Amino acid sequence: MDTIEKLTEIFKEFPGIGERQAKRFVYFLMSKNDSYAENFLLLIKDLKKEISQCSMCFRFFIPTPKRVGTPTVNVGVCEICKDKTLDSSQLMIIEKDSDLESVRKSKVYHGKYFVLGGLVPIVEKNTKSRIRINELKDKIKKDAKNGLEEIILAFSLSPQGDHTDFYIRNELKEITDSFNIKISSLGRGLSTGTELEYSDNDTIKNALKNRQ
Ligand SMILES: [Zn+2]
Repeated sequence: MDTIEKLTEIFKEFPGIGERQAKRFVYFLMSKNDSYAENFLLLIKDLKKEISQCSMCFRFFIPTPKRVGTPTVNVGVCEICKDKTLDSSQLMIIEKDSDLESVRKSKVYHGKYFVLGGLVPIVEKNTKSRIRINELKDKIKKDAKNGLEEIILAFSLSPQGDHTDFYIRNELKEITDSFNIKISSLGRGLSTGTELEYSDNDTIKNALKNRQ
C-alpha cells in the first residue's frame, strides 16, 4: 500500500466519508504546501494532548486552564456535569458527542447527559464491550441518591436506535424500578432515519415534548 492508499483508508474511517471523498481529501492535501500539512499535524497532536474525557458523562472536552491558586476539585469533570444550574432530576442518554452538542445547542433541554459511546447492533454477541452499559448503571445508582427522577433515551430513529432503546430499557429495568425512576424515549417528532445530530431546534423541541 502506498501513502495515498494508506491515507485514503484513514479518511474512509471518518464518519460519513466514502472512498471517493476520502481520495478527494488526499488529493487536496497533496495540493497544499508544507506549512499547511505541518499545521494540520500539529493541531491533531494538540487535540489529542488537550482533550479529556469526563468521568461522569464520558463526553470529550477541553478543560479550561486552571488559574493559579484555585482548588483542584472535580478534575476530569466537564462543565456540564459541574453546572449546578442544570436540572439533575433528568438524565438524557445519547449515542455520541455530536448528538449531545445538537441537543445542547437547541437550548430546549436543561438536564444532564450520559454518552453511551455507540448503538447496539441488532446482531451482536458482545454488547458490553461496545457501549458503556456498566458505567451507565453505576451512574444511575449514584444519581438516584441525588434526585434523579427521569431517564430520557435519545437515539436516532433507525432499527439500531430502536434496538438500543429496547436493550437499555431492559438492562435498566431493575434499577429504575427499585429507585422509582421514570424512563422515556424521545417522541416520534423526528422522522424515520433522522439522526439527532442533524436535527433542527424545533424537531428536538417536539421530540422532547412528545417523549413517551
Ligand atoms: Zn460531564
